[in-house]
Amino acid sequence: MTNTDILERDIGSLNTAGLEKLIDDICGIIHKACEESMPTKKGRSLMKHRPLWWTEKLTDLKKEVIQLHHRLNRMRRRNLPLDQLAEELNNKKAIYAEELRAESSRSFKEFCELQTKENVWTLTNRLLKDTAPKRPPATIKIGDNYTSSETETAQALLDHFYGDDTPDNDTHQHQFLRSRIGNEPDGVDEPPFAVEEMEASSRMAVWERLSSVSKVQKLYIKKRLKLHTSCSVFQAELLAIKEACEWTLDRRLKQGDERHQRGTRMHMGFKEVIQILSDSQAALRALQKRSNTHPIVAKTHDTIYTAAQVDLNFIFSWVKGHAGDAGNEIADETAKGAATQHKTPDYAKFPMSFVKRTMREKTWRTWQTRYESAEQGARTKELLPKLTDICALWKATKVSFQLTQALTGHGYHKEYLHRFKIAADPFCPCDNTTTQTLTHLLRECPRFEYNRLRHEMLCSNLRISPYCVTELSNKQSAIESFVTFINYIIDKLKGFNKL
Ligand SMILES: [Zn+2]
Repeated sequence: MTNTDILERDIGSLNTAGLEKLIDDICGIIHKACEESMPTKKGRSLMKHRPLWWTEKLTDLKKEVIQLHHRLNRMRRRNLPLDQLAEELNNKKAIYAEELRAESSRSFKEFCELQTKENVWTLTNRLLKDTAPKRPPATIKIGDNYTSSETETAQALLDHFYGDDTPDNDTHQHQFLRSRIGNEPDGVDEPPFAVEEMEASSRMAVWERLSSVSKVQKLYIKKRLKLHTSCSVFQAELLAIKEACEWTLDRRLKQGDERHQRGTRMHMGFKEVIQILSDSQAALRALQKRSNTHPIVAKTHDTIYTAAQVDLNFIFSWVKGHAGDAGNEIADETAKGAATQHKTPDYAKFPMSFVKRTMREKTWRTWQTRYESAEQGARTKELLPKLTDICALWKATKVSFQLTQALTGHGYHKEYLHRFKIAADPFCPCDNTTTQTLTHLLRECPRFEYNRLRHEMLCSNLRISPYCVTELSNKQSAIESFVTFINYIIDKLKGFNKL
């Protein structure tokens, strides 16, 4: 500004034009000063913000998409047909998107393959360095108060997640486990077990003792029990396990009585471990859950607890069924015999699944009767005589406006419109003498000949009757073709009838 005479001009003596000129000059100087002193964003600098994996090809593709977009806009303004160009634009967009994805994943793969090299960690560290580390809460709300120290917080969390047993949830098994915690360790060097160790290793400990016992007996005692026909396989498997446990406990107690009579102490004096094998994973999983309330499971839990008090422990193992295990084979054979026995069932408490199934069947039958006897829906019933047919259809395709018209017979066809006095006559415009029913449209009308032929040819290849909805529902491509055909008819019908 100092290089010009601008500051010396007397504003008071200037007319409007002179003042405008002065303002222009000042603005020009300011612009120039800004351009020289400040960095500006130019077209080229945009390139810098592109990802590292950007390619020339992507630049070209992007350019083509933009050009097509502009061309389309120009044509739209001139009211020219757009279909072809719009399709071209969509295709090009898809290619561009695909290429973007491919390049981006290629680059990410490359990054991942560098796992062992240092720069991955350099980058990760750089990203993590700026993130504030998450801290555990120093204080939490307990009732109306807040904890004031870390110890208090820890105690509060412990109480919340691992609170003491209440009389309601303190099970036999818990009490039993606690009673054993105080047991003396096995050797002098062994520290006593902690609670968690007891929990985790109770199974293992039993195993170890089992292997240290020199005498491992295998007993095959057959017992047949018949279950009511409503019972499930799951119940049968559980019942077998329960019976095996009870039988073993009985035997143990009898042995105890004999010893008692002979004058030995009631305490057995030796530990016994019984391994029970079952090929039912579901039954074993149910037994594992202490909270399981299934009557047979609960009874088995009780037996296991009672047994543990007389030093009889059970371990349960899964054995693959029909795989040659001698005991499993015997059990299978015995079970077959039990099923054919003519006697009152030993167990007849039906499972919930049986109740549900029976109720579902009953509901279904009532529904089917109601469907059959209903006065309305004649066309639908003709096409889909059973409820199961409807279910199969809805499994194969979605409900649509057009399909509903075709299945119910309520639609735009003239026979229907004439019935409601909407159309002057019921005739199809193809010959003006045939009544335009849905059947005519589907099977005869020359207006839809081409689409009909396509559908019928597909069905003939599949050996499916082209208008039998129940048959069509069984084949995905056939029902899809049928729906496409119907959609076409219904969509064109208004125009065809000139409504
Ligand atoms: Zn027609």
